[in-house]
Amino acid sequence: MTTAMNYRRLGRAGLKVSELSLGSWVTFGGQVGDGATEACMTAAYEAGVNFFDGAEVYAKGQAELAMGRVLKKQGWRREGLVLSTKLFWGGDGPNDVGLSHKHVIEGFHAALRRWQVDYLDLCFCHRPDPNTPIEETVRAMDVLVRQGTLFYWGTSEWSAADVETAFAVAKANHLTPPTMEQPQYNMLVRDRLEKEYAPLFEKHGYGTTIWSPLASGVLSGKYDAGVPPESRLALSTYDWLKEKLLAPATLATSKALAPLAQALGCTRAQLAIAWCLKNPNVSTVITGASRAEQVAENVKALSIVPRLTPEVMARIEGVLQGTSR
Ligand code: NDP
Repeated sequence: MTTAMNYRRLGRAGLKVSELSLGSWVTFGGQVGDGATEACMTAAYEAGVNFFDGAEVYAKGQAELAMGRVLKKQGWRREGLVLSTKLFWGGDGPNDVGLSHKHVIEGFHAALRRWQVDYLDLCFCHRPDPNTPIEETVRAMDVLVRQGTLFYWGTSEWSAADVETAFAVAKANHLTPPTMEQPQYNMLVRDRLEKEYAPLFEKHGYGTTIWSPLASGVLSGKYDAGVPPESRLALSTYDWLKEKLLAPATLATSKALAPLAQALGCTRAQLAIAWCLKNPNVSTVITGASRAEQVAENVKALSIVPRLTPEVMARIEGVLQGTSR
């Protein structure tokens, strides 16, 4: 199986992101230690992954600290990397959260220190902030871009209407508009990216760095027969996620995809990731991994993409719509 990495433009921007990227939610700085973090990042890097995704909230800052230590130790060329942070849930004080000018600037500089870098490529507004005017956030992001410490800013789980407002404010005031959104997108959660965001792709060429391609592992089939002890949904702090994801209908959909994966000669995880890559509005699929073997398995999804012919996609659609289960 060939697994050569491809690079896509981040929407209309000139920046190229690897089709598969690696994120740090739950895993780095929390569920797993520095050894596993380094093993996963190295396996990804060696497979051609250039984008590593962080957030101030992940393991309360420990995720970015852990990834920063790996970058320092490995000495990978900074120009070959695309690094991100996400701001919104920064801490306990009233000004350590949200998207105010104060928290955007302070939170961003704290992320630079955790990553141990002079600049970051991407900074996302991790959620919309109803307590800050969008114009204030756009102005703060513009300051960072003009200072040269940030290259592109974007949104995560914003409504299309709020993104449109950000574009309008940027245009009217000659400020830097957003470049990309970070939405959930997988075989189980599709509407926002496929329907609500369609005008953003058409009008603005908005990029996307999509998250949870395996629905936290459910689409790999690992939860078919219960919750394995060493898995995400066995972590007591993620009980809320377990309840949401292990619904009988969800598990039935995941199981029904098994014969399709088998026919293609791939694992269910590879099928789920390849399916995300078939969508041209996906700039990069952010994967997650608690061990390097998962990274190795997941990058092989690249070789499955060409096998997802219109006929195979129609069969998958039948399963997802519940018409051929
Ligand atoms: P996935 O849905 O791909 O889930 C990843 C988890 O699934 C792994 O940590 C691992 O968990 C398990 N897994 C991975 N590969 C396999 C495999 N081949 N076989 C079996 N199990 C596997 O992605 P995430 O939910 O982690 O999301 C990816 C990234 O997206 C995050 O790290 C983060 O950077 C970003 N994100 C952004 C959000 C936002 O609001 N903007 C929200 C959530 C994520 P285990 O081994 O422990 O079971």
